[in-house]
Amino acid sequence: MNEPPASVLAADEAAPVSLYNGGGASPFLLVADHAGNAIPRALGRLGLAEVELQRHIAWDIGIAGLGRLLADALDAPLIRQNYSRLVIDCNRPLLAASSIPTISESTGIPGNVGLDEANKAARAKEIFRPYHDRIEAELERRRQAGTATALISLHSFTPVFKGVARPWHAAVLYNRDPRLARCLLPLLDAEHEFTVGENVPYTVSDATDYTIPVHAERRGLPHVLIELRQDLIADEDGRREWALRLARLLPPAYRALGGGR
Ligand SMILES: [Zn+2]
Repeated sequence: MNEPPASVLAADEAAPVSLYNGGGASPFLLVADHAGNAIPRALGRLGLAEVELQRHIAWDIGIAGLGRLLADALDAPLIRQNYSRLVIDCNRPLLAASSIPTISESTGIPGNVGLDEANKAARAKEIFRPYHDRIEAELERRRQAGTATALISLHSFTPVFKGVARPWHAAVLYNRDPRLARCLLPLLDAEHEFTVGENVPYTVSDATDYTIPVHAERRGLPHVLIELRQDLIADEDGRREWALRLARLLPPAYRALGGGR
């Protein structure tokens, strides 16, 4: 056995977190927990073939590009994670079994089996923490500046999961606070072209989520988690279509709950 690495990320590797359009004047703050599929060199591709690291198990396909287009269209900041959720899932509590998954859908993740606490802690410290600290710092900066904020958590889902096709084009998810979701859902439904899920195919909970409970619910910020089906945003035309649609619908949804702008 090799000695465990003293740290996960080498000095020349990508930062875990990126801020795009940081000066954006919008009340919306966009976050993308699963935007990247990078794997630190020290983890040896987690024992997976390259093709697995391009699949939905590794990241939210299409969301990085969609997020940038939406950030541009809304003039909103976008904070995104650059490393794969297979390294450490930035939308899971650190104590959740799925924080560092040993299986995803039906694929075993060899590099995550039998990890000791030191290696788990290194991933939390170098990848999970900097991402959430960055969101926290941005929310705190906005609070101190008196800037109203609605947190928009961007995700994408695979059209077929464990052999079952999913009927939704998009979905709106929330847990304790439905305010912004309830304003956005009728606007999406009014597009008439789509099947829009409400708290399907996933739900938001303290046990299965981190970003919405910790950053939005605890601060009492209006928020919504938006899921887009990956085949709809797999190419640039699809990403642009959905970015422009969301940029058109989010401001009136926010105004409908009494937000400014
Ligand atoms: Zn996701």
